Amino acid sequence: MFDNLSERLGRTLKNLRGQGRLSEDNISEAMREVRMALLEADVALPVVKDFIEHVRERAIGQEVATSLTPGQVVIKIVHEELVRLMGESATPLSLNVAPPAVILLAGLQGAGKTTTAVKLARHIRDDLKRSVKVVSCDVYRPAAIDQLHAYADQAGIEYLPSDSSQKPLDIARDAVATVRRQGVETLIVDTAGRLHVDEDMMAEVQALNSDLSPAETLFVIDSMMGQDAVKSAEAFNNALPLSGVILTKVDGDARGGAALSVRHVTGKPIKFLGSGEKFDALEAFHPERVASRILG
Ligand code: GDP
Repeated sequence: MFDNLSERLGRTLKNLRGQGRLSEDNISEAMREVRMALLEADVALPVVKDFIEHVRERAIGQEVATSLTPGQVVIKIVHEELVRLMGESATPLSLNVAPPAVILLAGLQGAGKTTTAVKLARHIRDDLKRSVKVVSCDVYRPAAIDQLHAYADQAGIEYLPSDSSQKPLDIARDAVATVRRQGVETLIVDTAGRLHVDEDMMAEVQALNSDLSPAETLFVIDSMMGQDAVKSAEAFNNALPLSGVILTKVDGDARGGAALSVRHVTGKPIKFLGSGEKFDALEAFHPERVASRILG
């Protein structure tokens, strides 16, 4: 992720490094380049505008400490503004509710929800040391339930059976009752996705969300969809009280625009990155580390 952005920003900011002093002209020129680099990385336009404005305002008239060159000052500002854009600090899962803590996963078909359900379950079991089960409420896609069961088996995660003849709400309610009875602390609920945002899907996931009152309502998006990912995040954010976002397939996304736009557009933190098809390919999202990765 961020290969091109990193390369372009590196080049632009390197040109500034040699400058003896920062003038409005050389800042403007650098900002034009940074703008191009962000747009090429498929960062949403309002996000780019806001970002450039912040950096420009801070860079112009900046007192340059003797220990730094003017170029280093701009690089520092760009770094800090990237971190701010992505939400400052990492936001871990918030599961401190009376058990069972329910995690509802929403998103479009193919975003990676089912894979992510199993990855998250592993993280919760192995890193957070909490008991966890998964359940599928996707009664529309014929193989969806079997797929979750197969993934869970491969990863050694326990699942609750469900059947495509049942109603999603009934599956979810039964699952909550079962894990409560069993004393299982966490339940991950995988929901149906469609190819595009549609009213029926939204109504169903809204009904699930208000019935279950999840500890976490997470939106799973495919980072390779770039600006379309951000648009679908906006639609889900308007329909649901999302608590965070999981960005998948970052291993295949050279641009990184969604990672830089989602927080700004939705106001919700990215909590994890999916970085591969394997069930251990889930990373906590650290804005600081990602900014450092971008600036090399
Ligand atoms: P769902 O329809 O939202 O449940 O999506 P799936 O979990 O079935 O995933 C769709 C495809 O994306 C599958 O082939 C997954 O292996 C793949 N996938 C999911 N997450 C990742 C990821 O982080 N990286 C890569 N490379 N592939 C992923």
